[in-house]
Amino acid sequence: MSELSELYQQVILDHNKKPRNFHKLEAANRSAEGYNPLCGDQLTVYMQLEDEVVSDISFEGSGCAISKAAASMMTQAVKGKSRQDAETLFDEFHRMVTGELDEEATSHHLGRLTIFSGVRDFPARVKCASLSWHTMHAALNNQEITSTEGAHDPASSVGG
Ligand code: ZN
Repeated sequence: MSELSELYQQVILDHNKKPRNFHKLEAANRSAEGYNPLCGDQLTVYMQLEDEVVSDISFEGSGCAISKAAASMMTQAVKGKSRQDAETLFDEFHRMVTGELDEEATSHHLGRLTIFSGVRDFPARVKCASLSWHTMHAALNNQEITSTEGAHDPASSVGG
């Protein structure tokens, strides 16, 4: 952890201690569960989707500091966004933490979320940082259960 930037550590600690939008959303019309078996992180994302806009979003669950902080910041970033903008953020975040997007050389919409770019150097942590984003993506697409293990597997998205 010593290689992580000071800003990164401060933000992670702050959001882990005081996670934003950390409650069940009674008015939710979408929800999805995410599980990262590598670390034991599990969370539920609740979403109120109105006219293709994420009017409200929250999460509940337990996990490591990175997963919790990432979920907290995900809800802040996505709240009020259109479905299209939320999907764009999901795509950019996922590509950033997997090393496909160079956040310093490419234009993007990630803002403060770029503090998570450092996890690409810690492969075991990539799933912690991206779990809430995969789960938000699943909720947007009205899937009930997601897992980072099966997120790339078309066979896991049956039904609907
Ligand atoms: Zn974790």
